[in-house]
Amino acid sequence: MLNLSVVLEDSARERPDRTAVVFGDLRMSYALVNSLADQVAGLLASRGIGRGDKVALACPNLPYFPIVYFGILKAGATVVPLNVLLQAREIAYHLRDSRAKALFCFEGTPELPLGRRGHEGFREAVSEGGPDADGFFILPATPLGTESGIEGVPTLWTALSGLPDRFETVATAPEDTAVILYTSGTTGQPKGAELSHQNMLLNAVVSDEMFELTGDDVFLAALPLFHSFGQTVIMNAGFRRRAALVMVPRFEPAAALALMREERVTMFAGVPTMYWAMLTSVHADGAEVPSTLRTAASGGASLPVEVLKDFEKTFGLPVMEGYGLSETSPVASFNQRGRPAKPGSIGTPVWGVEMKLIDPAWNTVEGEGPGEIAIRGHNVMKGYLGRPEATAEVTKDGWFRTGDIATRDADGYYFIIDRVKDMIIRGGFNVYPRELEEVLMTHEAVSLAAVVGVPHGSHGEEIKAYVIRRPGATVTEDELLAWCKENMAAYKYPRLVEFRDSFPMTASGKILKRELR
Ligand code: AMP
Repeated sequence: MLNLSVVLEDSARERPDRTAVVFGDLRMSYALVNSLADQVAGLLASRGIGRGDKVALACPNLPYFPIVYFGILKAGATVVPLNVLLQAREIAYHLRDSRAKALFCFEGTPELPLGRRGHEGFREAVSEGGPDADGFFILPATPLGTESGIEGVPTLWTALSGLPDRFETVATAPEDTAVILYTSGTTGQPKGAELSHQNMLLNAVVSDEMFELTGDDVFLAALPLFHSFGQTVIMNAGFRRRAALVMVPRFEPAAALALMREERVTMFAGVPTMYWAMLTSVHADGAEVPSTLRTAASGGASLPVEVLKDFEKTFGLPVMEGYGLSETSPVASFNQRGRPAKPGSIGTPVWGVEMKLIDPAWNTVEGEGPGEIAIRGHNVMKGYLGRPEATAEVTKDGWFRTGDIATRDADGYYFIIDRVKDMIIRGGFNVYPRELEEVLMTHEAVSLAAVVGVPHGSHGEEIKAYVIRRPGATVTEDELLAWCKENMAAYKYPRLVEFRDSFPMTASGKILKRELR
């Protein structure tokens, strides 16, 4: 029997009093989180939900998240974490597509809304083909409150009252699906990547070992736990090692830095825009750098080299950059301890994972490349739920094709050029935005850049740069255009520049290029 919930169970047994989660003044020990998860499992079992069933969870980073997540796993069921920014129609789609039998949904507050219309969107979605009314539970706004503003739906605590605080975890097979993570993948509609207990557990173990976590580590849990990066690298790896998780339901750089100082945070994992935002806060507003930070990991999108250098100088510690996808649990490669880190690189494959470069016909590309990254190992998903053709498109002989183009150096380090789908074709030439973004960010007035292709009559696509200027910088669009022309080849320098105060971002903090386009 292998169940991902072992990362919590072992820690609750070995170190019951150790703090597992912190939220404001609330501190919950491993023993408490574990017994509440047992009650959640008991609740599901009492509704006939068990092995093979799917249960959805819509919740920002609050103590509820691990309690419900591990409760679902202990019941032998599969967790379907939902992005908290989904709209009613999208929620209905996810609930229908996954055939979720129950849904645990945060009530939503003005500061932490769910979707655009809060939980009402969820209720509406439930009535459109989701779980029955008796499988709908509200996670109240007050963390330990039994009341919610939603009539006729039980809150978690009401539903749990009277249930025993011990539950014998249902025996699951290593290949049973533990989690279904919805992702658009390289194309089309959101698809549910089915990740087994073995996939998720080994990735948590690999992360834990790679970061050399200790039982005294304190994580800032700012990456959303419904996304694979936060789920594995922060929650599952952290729980395995008995670390404490400081819950941040909504990332705000100055508040995050203050919290890191107060809670003596030792470990930070984030997407590049979080690093950028914290640096901006330090430089522009004089925010103080936390002194206890020991490890910093970046992934989810490419970390601009300028941001990496600035962070290392300002915070006085290296950033370990890595790479992965929802489909790979997610960690596939990292700049690992004990090997020289290479700025701009996603490092080398992690333990038990192979990487290679391929061409569109799956042929292996030798040497430097470029080519598309393919991954094989314990981290590769079982497939997309209910979509054999989509699965067949991206998998062959155990290899998974990622849609990301990279080169490889003589030491076996990979360097992401860009995603296949972000490539711009201007007048027949292939242009990769990342390269231009890196160049733009060496300009002293440029704080952050995002380059996209926009439709153009004769060139097919034209190259446009969106730029956030450094505070106080006065460079004009014309000046920046002239600088681009001087510093980049004629076929690829941006012909259009637009200044912005901020960029649209996904809930996990990645720049939404689709919307910029
Ligand atoms: P997701 O499934 O949301 O985790 O997104 C996976 C995608 O994020 C990958 O296919 C890459 O395009 C991108 N990604 C993740 N890590 C990196 C990285 N270190 N550098 C560049 N792109 C990355």
